[in-house]
Amino acid sequence: MNSMTGPERLEGVAGRHWHRLDDGRIQCDVCPRYCKLSEGQRGLCFVRGRQDDRIVLTTYGRSSGFCVDPIEKKPLNHFLPGTPVLSFGTAGCNLTCKFCQNWDISKARQLDRLQDTASPEDIVRAAIATGSRSIAYTYNDPVIFLEYAVDVAKAARRHGIKNVAVTAGYIAAAAREDMYRWMDAANVDLKAFTEEFYKRLCTGHLAAVLETLEYLKRETKVWFEITTLLIPGHNDSPQEVKRLSEWVISRLGPDVPLHFTAFHPDYRMLDLPCTPASTLTTARDIAREVGLHYVYTGNVHDERGQSTYCPECGERLIGRDWYEITTWRLSTDGRCGSCGAAIPGLFEARRGSWGQRRMPVRIGRGDRGVLAS
Ligand code: SF4
Repeated sequence: MNSMTGPERLEGVAGRHWHRLDDGRIQCDVCPRYCKLSEGQRGLCFVRGRQDDRIVLTTYGRSSGFCVDPIEKKPLNHFLPGTPVLSFGTAGCNLTCKFCQNWDISKARQLDRLQDTASPEDIVRAAIATGSRSIAYTYNDPVIFLEYAVDVAKAARRHGIKNVAVTAGYIAAAAREDMYRWMDAANVDLKAFTEEFYKRLCTGHLAAVLETLEYLKRETKVWFEITTLLIPGHNDSPQEVKRLSEWVISRLGPDVPLHFTAFHPDYRMLDLPCTPASTLTTARDIAREVGLHYVYTGNVHDERGQSTYCPECGERLIGRDWYEITTWRLSTDGRCGSCGAAIPGLFEARRGSWGQRRMPVRIGRGDRGVLAS
């Protein structure tokens, strides 16, 4: 928690998940940190704080930027493949990962990074104008801008635009229901499979993330995929990869896609090498041997590891070269074009054709991209 140093007022929109404690403090119930705040204090995420005897979200309506990406970049390989997704984030994060790949946003203490102001309706208009099929709450974790993400998601749904959460899954029970009611898909980071890793490198708890994954499987219809960033020497041992894969298959089933992605030195872990491609391939082999049907590699060039294969007959159904779809062998009803096996996910009769493009969008201003208002 960070105390205010001056007479700064925390301007923002009222948060929904908090309660008053007997000692007069207010507890934020959005994530398992449960920050207990006195008047004027901010939580660990920095973007929520107590002002006028309630919790406010200081980043509502403010973004660090908008961009249209391929959906495969989230990464989601079984959700409207080949389509564009309007992506945005705000600032701050509720984990403190030393290896963060978006640290300039997630660790931002200067909210003046948030240059784009946009209402939910502005964002949905931009999604429609860019032909985006979905909106992704990403770059930093939507858990900490929950009220803003949910309002955008509600507006999106009214217009037939889908919603995608890219998240570490570090969220408390009531907030979880609030958020996932409005989500159609999620990519959840499972950062490692030891409590020790979460404690030492993220100051969080693995158990809370596993609970979110089980909740998604058990109690929602949200399509979700899992990503594990393999960091040399920290979470990439074959034994840990095997334990993680076994947990996924036993608790979530064989059809939940699992992505092993390569680490690049960043933030406070600049002394480590990049993850070798061979580590990702070995992890993929282990997870497939355990019985998972859809295991992918990411952040490296690996057409084999990024393509989707039929678990019944082995046919390459969706070939991928980075984010470009090179092969499409699915039937119009999402089945294997060779043996007819049903492939889980959300597929349309035809693949999207967005390709690898990344298109920055300025909302409400006219100097680049598409105007939304
Ligand atoms: S979202 Fe989490 S980190 Fe932020 S104030 Fe609430 S409990 Fe603390």
